[in-house]
Amino acid sequence: MSEPKPIIILGSTGSIGQQTLEVVRALPHRLRVVGLAAHSNHELLAQQIAEWKPAVAALWDESAAQQLRDAVGSSSTRLLAGQSGVHEVATYQEGQLVLGAMLGAAGLGPTLAAIEAGKDVAIANKETLVAAGSVVMEVARAKGVALLPVDSEHSAIAQCLIGEEAKTVTKLTITASGGPFVDTPKEELARATAARALKHPTWTMGQKITVDSATLMNKALESIEAHWLFDVPMQNIDVVVHRQSIVHSLVTFCDNSVKAQLGVPDMRLPIQWALLYPERIGGTAPALDIASMGPLTFERPDAARFPALALAHHAMQAGGTAPAVMNAANEVAVHAFLKGTTSFYGITDCIEAVLERHTVIARPKLSDIYEADAEARRLAREFF
Ligand code: NDP
Ligand code: MG
Repeated sequence: MSEPKPIIILGSTGSIGQQTLEVVRALPHRLRVVGLAAHSNHELLAQQIAEWKPAVAALWDESAAQQLRDAVGSSSTRLLAGQSGVHEVATYQEGQLVLGAMLGAAGLGPTLAAIEAGKDVAIANKETLVAAGSVVMEVARAKGVALLPVDSEHSAIAQCLIGEEAKTVTKLTITASGGPFVDTPKEELARATAARALKHPTWTMGQKITVDSATLMNKALESIEAHWLFDVPMQNIDVVVHRQSIVHSLVTFCDNSVKAQLGVPDMRLPIQWALLYPERIGGTAPALDIASMGPLTFERPDAARFPALALAHHAMQAGGTAPAVMNAANEVAVHAFLKGTTSFYGITDCIEAVLERHTVIARPKLSDIYEADAEARRLAREFF
């Protein structure tokens, strides 16, 4: 049998990072952790270092990294700090595959560094593709590395596409649970609090993506993510509300045949698929019992209550730096919503206003994207 695959986890203390470690824990003969990185959660990273004994580990936040050093003491793990430390972990020589599960566009630098270093990337961090899809895909192609989706919808699409020719694909249909507000009237939504938005009906996730699910911005980001990963035009990417989160997405082909991938809503399944691709083995996710799962329903999303989807199409039509601006404004606005300093519709109102004030750079270089992102954050902060 082959040696366990050496992997690096960026964002190991988050929801996806911790579920990735559960997958590794269940498959120790197939996977081995050689690098871990997070932002500032030194307590949890110290525990992870004690359990996994990675060769390298880093915290982006320098003062938290000092606390990590104090907690870990002498160990075989090399401890690093700051942005450069996270980059060093992302490019650590022994790592074969990097799982990118940092939050937001902060993941862009480490992800690009891993790709430049020739590593395959299992990508959960969708904001990286939204902000800089053209650059990331170009570098990945040039380096001949695989970008394997972790997002459940994109994992479903990738699985449906196996054995198919790209030119036969006519439509991608991304499913949405609809989030906690799927039936909430607009007037009530306008007063919705973060506490209510954080009660997701089918998935347990980090706070930012849970709010994105409530506004449907998550589907907006996922549509753009799908465009870059699968090279399908935005107008051929649809979103449908599927409350049960059993059908993870669908692909329509030119003969009108439709393929879908089903499974229980459990992120360990797409995580394992990406970590072990192209191999399937028994792992951690529970079985789906078709006969007892009840009816599956599909509905159009309500564009009037959820303006995020239209914003994504608008940003993609504008092209260039516009999606990076949309993403950055959303990150700032979601943060404000979580702190209680803006309302539910304050999020999309802010994004719309920031997009309006942005002058698009059509074929952006990486530096243009970083500048557009920083400018969008500055403009968005003026709102709150
Ligand atoms: P969490 O908020 O739970 O975790 C975020 C992780 O990223 C934490 O480990 C955090 O560290 C780390 N982090 C933040 N900034 C940096 C940085 N600059 N360098 C290194 N690490 C950093 O988020 P989720 O796990 O929910 O989501 C992570 C990504 O995966 C997001 O892009 C999300 O959209 C995507 N995703 C998540 C899904 C889910 O089910 N949760 C499903 C599909 C996609 P610290 O703890 O120290 O702050
Ligand atoms: Mg998803």
